[in-house]
Amino acid sequence: MIADNIKLVKNDIDIHCSKSGRSSQDVTLIAVSKTKPMMMILEAYEGGQRHFGENKVQEIKDKQPLMPDAKWHMIGHLQTNKIKYIIDKVVLIHSVDSYKLAEAIHNEAKKRGLVMDILIQINVAEETSKFGISVPDVESFIREVARLENLKIKGLMTIAPYVVDAEENRPIFRKMKDIFIDIQNKNIDNVDMGILSMGMTNDYGVAIEEGSTMIRVGTGIFGIRN
Ligand SMILES: *Cc1c(COP(=O)(O)O)cnc(C)c1O
Repeated sequence: MIADNIKLVKNDIDIHCSKSGRSSQDVTLIAVSKTKPMMMILEAYEGGQRHFGENKVQEIKDKQPLMPDAKWHMIGHLQTNKIKYIIDKVVLIHSVDSYKLAEAIHNEAKKRGLVMDILIQINVAEETSKFGISVPDVESFIREVARLENLKIKGLMTIAPYVVDAEENRPIFRKMKDIFIDIQNKNIDNVDMGILSMGMTNDYGVAIEEGSTMIRVGTGIFGIRN
């Protein structure tokens, strides 16, 4: 039962929050519904789930109109020519990883007279991920993107590698939190560091303990994907 899985994840959120002296209210659960049919997604919705994550433009296009009142998150790699299909359907784009993409989102947002909330994807575990800004470039990248007035930088996102023991990812999450605080302290115009999107089915407990404010859980809610 999907609603039961959500309850279990929420219970875990409570446990890891209290373990680290945080409030569960500071952690948003995004149900990652990629590849999953509407029937399952509706079950989650009826169980009270409101935030959903997808990594393909086509799936957002198909699913969002069926549940307009849910909050959709673009968490996957985004091609510039597809921004126009989702910019008015998602509340947050987690995966901004190049200036070209940031500029293209800005241009589309400007055309429509809106301001798009984005996260900057960081590549902390360089060897395992193709996408994301590398750590030494983060500050200068954020300063550049912050000049695009139809974007609002809301925080950072990372995809940690798949590991058997979640503890192995703790240094990655800790590093992310350090970068997050560092950028926050710089008080850059148009940057509002509030969201730290990190932690997936396998490692969200550790991510929460290290300061995650948004966890993206797919398998743990909807079961394994084909
Ligand atoms: C698929 C995906 C997730 C969810 O992964 P699970 O291991 O199934 O929880 C989280 N974030 C991103 C960016 C994804 O693509």
